[in-house]
Amino acid sequence: MATTASEKKLLIAGEWVETGDWVEVRSPYSGEVVGRVAKAGRAETRRAVDAAEAAMREPLPAHKRAEILVRVAGQLGRRHEEVAQTIAAEAGKPLKAARVEASRAMSTFTFSAVEARKLAGEMVPMDASQAGAGKLAFTLREPIGVVGAISPFNFPLNLVAHKIGPALAAGCAVVLKPASQTPFSALLLAELLTEAELPPGWLNVVVGPASEIGDVLVEDERVRAITFTGSGDVGWKLAERAPRKRVKLELGNATPVIVEADADLEDVSTRLAANAFSFAGQSCISVQRIYVQRDAYDDLLARLLPKVEALVVGDPLDETTDVGPLIDEGARDRVLEWIEEARAAGAEILTGGTLAGELLRPTVIANASPELHVSREEVFGPVCTVTAYDTVDEAIELANGTRYGLQAGIFTRDLKVALDAARRLEFGGVTVNEAPTFRADQMPYGGVKDSGNTREGPAYAVRELTEERLVVVEL
Ligand code: NAP
Repeated sequence: MATTASEKKLLIAGEWVETGDWVEVRSPYSGEVVGRVAKAGRAETRRAVDAAEAAMREPLPAHKRAEILVRVAGQLGRRHEEVAQTIAAEAGKPLKAARVEASRAMSTFTFSAVEARKLAGEMVPMDASQAGAGKLAFTLREPIGVVGAISPFNFPLNLVAHKIGPALAAGCAVVLKPASQTPFSALLLAELLTEAELPPGWLNVVVGPASEIGDVLVEDERVRAITFTGSGDVGWKLAERAPRKRVKLELGNATPVIVEADADLEDVSTRLAANAFSFAGQSCISVQRIYVQRDAYDDLLARLLPKVEALVVGDPLDETTDVGPLIDEGARDRVLEWIEEARAAGAEILTGGTLAGELLRPTVIANASPELHVSREEVFGPVCTVTAYDTVDEAIELANGTRYGLQAGIFTRDLKVALDAARRLEFGGVTVNEAPTFRADQMPYGGVKDSGNTREGPAYAVRELTEERLVVVEL
């Protein structure tokens, strides 16, 4: 049962605001109403930008920003179970995974606080040139200005934390638009920030039609940066429409992993079973394409398939559930279509491919040719393919054969092979002997190619949300 059935207002200029219209949120599992949120449009978004701009006229010193961020981390710890239940109820994320997300958000706020305290420019070695001799120069890191933040449904707390934490650390006020399907976690975070004495206007939360809110964030010149996590179609269009803003994109992937025959196959199969199907594959770095050296192919499958079949599919609010629903029926039907396309093209469904009640069973597909959706596009569902290869060169080429480039992984005991692959895999991150689904929140995280144009992780995001200002002093 949803535990958070509630009514929430928008946060604008430190006030909780109603608009007369509502966005209703339903459980992706049961369809029951989780709650409703006041619906914002253009007018509320403009007021939110006004408030953010006004807030930044009185800068908050770094120590105050750090204290607030640390307080939020503490509150996330104290209210951990409530936070996890909120994520599980609105996103349909199994509680086990929701608790991990809640803990990770504490980490994101903690690291953001550290960055607030460390924020500094650097000395410029002026006497290194004749022109600079006799002068002293250094840089300051100034907040870029008001930040528009747009976040997706799949990590409704921690990806919001990755937007708000670094922006506040950098000294920027934020207008946040969370995903319409999952606004409650974001609004809970807003409550915690308010309780932590974040002054009015520094965080404004608007929930409502994406195009209306997005248009204001794109068109209003006072919004100097847009930080977006979500699908490529939406993200790249925002970047095109706002050429004068810093538009930072964290987008999708079709995550590959290479398994050499010398790897510890028992360990590999455990990690892959968990990381291809956690949150029903709705992570941007969910394991999707498994390439196995031919000698190890049968052995890996013999270990992997029973582990996949042992995953518990069901109610996300049940403590034992590993795999819950997809975010909505449309998403589920699209993934089913892609599975059927693969089946029709001669691929073999080794397990899954059918519904358990309304839920899609974890699905493993063999012999999927490269042109199929499941091989080249982001599935964002509980599906992975397994393909045999002969040489590691072939595996790297297959892994790179996609428009995406977020994270990839390789399992091998051979350090030379691992490091060579790390250099040649065209991705923002490469994991060795760990699933490429791994992320710790202080890591630089982000993609190349169609997967985006930035790195998150508080230290890196703060860099993106500040401008360097040079100061030259005649001595
Ligand atoms: P999405 O449909 O692109 O939505 C993401 C956000 O963009 C939502 O808040 C959505 O609002 C908003 N949006 C939609 N159209 C917009 C517009 N025209 N202008 C402004 N905002 C707009 O993505 P999703 O389905 O929520 O998330 C899944 C995608 O995110 C996957 O591709 C996944 O790989 C990617 N992702 C990437 C990362 C990463 O760090 N690289 C992390 C997580 C997820 P509404 O909800 O109101 O439509």
